Amino acid sequence: MMEGPVIHILDEETVSHIAAGEVVERPASVVKELVENAIDAGASRIRIDIRSDRTEVRRIIVTDDGIGMSPEDARLAFRQHATSKIRTADDLGLIRTLGFRGEALASIAAISEVVLTTRRRDDIAGTEVRLSGGAITSVSECGTPPGTTINVSGLFFNTPARRKFQRTVSTELAHIFDMVERTALSHPEISLQLLHQEKEKFRTSGRGELLDTIQSLFGADLSRRLIEVLPAPGNVSVAGYIAYPLLSQRGRSSVYLSVNGRQITSATLARAIRDGFGESLPKGEYPFAVIDCRMDPEEVDVNVHPTKKEVRFSSERAVADTVRGAVRSALTESDSFQVPEIRRNSAPAPVVEENNHHPEPVLRRTSAGVELPRKTVVAEGKGMYGRTDRQLRQTELPREGPEIAFVPSVLGQINGTYILVAGKDGGLLIIDQHAAHEKIVYDKLRKQADGPPAYQHLLVPVTISLSRKDSALLRDAIEDIASAGIILEEFGGDSWMVRAVPADGVKIEEPDEIKSLVLELIEGVRGPAGDRRLQMYQTIACRAAIKGNTLLSQEQMERLISQLFTAAPPYTCPHGRPAVISYAPSDLEQLFRRR
Ligand code: ADP
Ligand code: MG
Repeated sequence: MMEGPVIHILDEETVSHIAAGEVVERPASVVKELVENAIDAGASRIRIDIRSDRTEVRRIIVTDDGIGMSPEDARLAFRQHATSKIRTADDLGLIRTLGFRGEALASIAAISEVVLTTRRRDDIAGTEVRLSGGAITSVSECGTPPGTTINVSGLFFNTPARRKFQRTVSTELAHIFDMVERTALSHPEISLQLLHQEKEKFRTSGRGELLDTIQSLFGADLSRRLIEVLPAPGNVSVAGYIAYPLLSQRGRSSVYLSVNGRQITSATLARAIRDGFGESLPKGEYPFAVIDCRMDPEEVDVNVHPTKKEVRFSSERAVADTVRGAVRSALTESDSFQVPEIRRNSAPAPVVEENNHHPEPVLRRTSAGVELPRKTVVAEGKGMYGRTDRQLRQTELPREGPEIAFVPSVLGQINGTYILVAGKDGGLLIIDQHAAHEKIVYDKLRKQADGPPAYQHLLVPVTISLSRKDSALLRDAIEDIASAGIILEEFGGDSWMVRAVPADGVKIEEPDEIKSLVLELIEGVRGPAGDRRLQMYQTIACRAAIKGNTLLSQEQMERLISQLFTAAPPYTCPHGRPAVISYAPSDLEQLFRRR
């Protein structure tokens, strides 16, 4: 029978070389240590079962199908500095396991009630060890499947000060879920199942496909927007997936980093990923990214932080450069549509007159050059032009400057909703007019986000009346809404006067439109102030943008598209839905089986 690794107690000399400090800060640290042990035990399936009540995380049960422990090791495992993973300080230079300090189980047991059951595959019986406050209260034989289960309850029961220090149960749960997600992303080859109150939160396939894992954690919507980062030859190999951020995913928490399969946090590497996106990300925003760096273990020192979440590189600069380069080339290769084929035209882009007198029927060009009357495509009509053009005024091109020479070659419109554009080198772009317009308006508004609100006074103030409840809500939100450029004044009797709307790009003037916008804004005013303003801009942009099912003239489409492509890369609308779908020439060749 093959003997597994054997636990021994590290000598003092070795212990003195290990970064000291608190291991168990909060329930999520317990989860992290137990899951790491399961991974080190070679598990292919790990189940994390969390129980909580209204005030606390009550129980954490981690079950794995790893190598298990002998009866002797099962007792020894809870002693201080007991580990099977290193022997001497020399081994610290070349750690391939996640654990090595031999302290986690001892620290966890010291502040809780623990029941361990474990069996090695070839042993006939398993072992159960029970501990309370670090002391073994019973050891017995038991029947149990191969692998290990550790059941931790009564966390911090004997350290009331620490227990008091815990945040609300929802915060602690959020930390736990985040921790398990990060582990899942750094180990797609392991199937992780997370349960809360016996309900499954997620389960990853364990098939080894990172894309699978991302999809099971974040859903198909995100995975459709992902761009793959492929490893390139070199000392450091960087692989994973990145995506332009959604509004709801700001800050470094959407960056998932691991080094040699160990999840880490690193401000430097997160910034390197960000820098790889260059100017296309607004200041202070981080993309979504799952990035794993592989390198010689000798190049990484994991022994710098007691919870092992930070590491030290022998050359941090080189690692950061590689990460930045990998992200940048992934982006360059992926966006065939970043600079679409746009006809250079010596004449300025045509600007639609604002008199709404378009010849009827409106003719549109198709790819074959045939012109079709609009009735054959869109049933809706009558009066739509007036409104559309008012909304589109904001997308007028500047009359001076070099950009006006660009006129994208718009091929036509489908269903009054999508615009077809000839892409770079003969590719094809399909553009969602609402998403595209929304993005243009949003980008304009967002440029104002750092300064005082810019607004334009309405020539004729609009009066709206609200329910008593909405009026009360509006009174609370009025300053926030003003910070986004909408100035409202109480008129009495739950009537309100709208004095101004955001400058630069918002053409909302109808009382009904303004009223629904205001209602939507008071609903959505939540979260930290900076976020609130961006959220409001998002709402405003969505309301101000032309809708689908709206017929556009050739000129209107051209204006829209030029604006879209002179702004930041038009990957998604502010909600994260795609604004542009692109087929590279090679995609078309493949679709038509030309090669
Ligand atoms: P470390 O992981 O740093 O070695 P721990 O206190 O976390 O220290 O664990 C002590 C030892 O207990 C480990 O070295 C390992 O031999 C054993 N062990 C812990 N958890 C498991 C598990 N899930 N499966 C098998 N062995 C385990
Ligand atoms: Mg450990």
